[in-house]
Amino acid sequence: MRTAAACTPGKRKTLFLDGPREPADDPAQNSCALIFRIPINRINWTTSSFLIGTFVLTLTAVPLYLWHFGIDWFHVAVFAVLLAATGFSVTLGYHRLFSHMTFRAKLPVRLFTLIFGAAAFENSVLMWASDHRRHHKHVDHDEDPYDISKGFFHAHIGWLLFKLWPQPPFDNVADLKKDPLVMWQHRHIHSLAVLVGFGLPTLTGFLWDGWLGALGGFLIGGVAKVVVLQHGTFLINSACHTIGRRPYSTRCSARDSFFMALFTFGEGYHNYHHEFQHDYRNGVKPWQWDPTKWLIWILSKLGLTSGLRRVPQEIIYSAQARLRGSRKG
Ligand SMILES: [Zn+2]
Ligand SMILES: [Zn+2]
Repeated sequence: MRTAAACTPGKRKTLFLDGPREPADDPAQNSCALIFRIPINRINWTTSSFLIGTFVLTLTAVPLYLWHFGIDWFHVAVFAVLLAATGFSVTLGYHRLFSHMTFRAKLPVRLFTLIFGAAAFENSVLMWASDHRRHHKHVDHDEDPYDISKGFFHAHIGWLLFKLWPQPPFDNVADLKKDPLVMWQHRHIHSLAVLVGFGLPTLTGFLWDGWLGALGGFLIGGVAKVVVLQHGTFLINSACHTIGRRPYSTRCSARDSFFMALFTFGEGYHNYHHEFQHDYRNGVKPWQWDPTKWLIWILSKLGLTSGLRRVPQEIIYSAQARLRGSRKG
């Protein structure tokens, strides 16, 4: 996952990716890097400032605001509504629709998920899908952008704080480049992210309670929401490749976790997802907590989504049986 970046498709001129790796020439930088073992020359300053800044504000300014002015349930409601709108836009839109094409969606769903998905500050769908498809293809290997074998921190946030090297090619989203809506979102990702991610909650707060409401809207519905949402997504790449069960395959590190699914709109069933990435469900069992699959199904009943792809039951059962057999043996 990435925060918003400027990029020309094919050129991948982003805030996060570096040019050729060069040693730091500045002796001060070298000594600093030596002491703290931080690769100064690879720090993504813009992305790091955003991620650390919003995190620090959430831990300081948000509780201070609540302490001084008390909890206003309007701000809590704005936080919950925007968290749901943005979260589902990432899981249903960015992930299951655009990255994996597990179903088809009508214009209102596509437009909504592109606009509110931008508010997560996880970059354009074009960039997100490129990284994510590469993650699936090369999972647990060097070419995987959030390769868990490089450690929990790298998979969680390190790959964003420091530039990836070598620069990943931008060659796996040709289908998305043909989509005019996707390209429109890609061109305007910065302004969309700021307007919907921060502008909308600030404005609703202002309309509710003037400048004080605007500050609360910005801090709670804007900053805190982005931090909660981003770390939810980061946990898929880190915790869901570390903690949980592997009922369908042991070919990669991905794991199923009900606990993680609770915080990630149902994305915690990651072992199933890696084994059967073209299924619109992540929690494939009817009782598993996967609100994203329920929403896709409800939208299909309303005629807004169609062609929901499911892996046949017998294939799922045989994957489980094969694994049980190999464990007994
Ligand atoms: Zn995926
Ligand atoms: Zn994964």
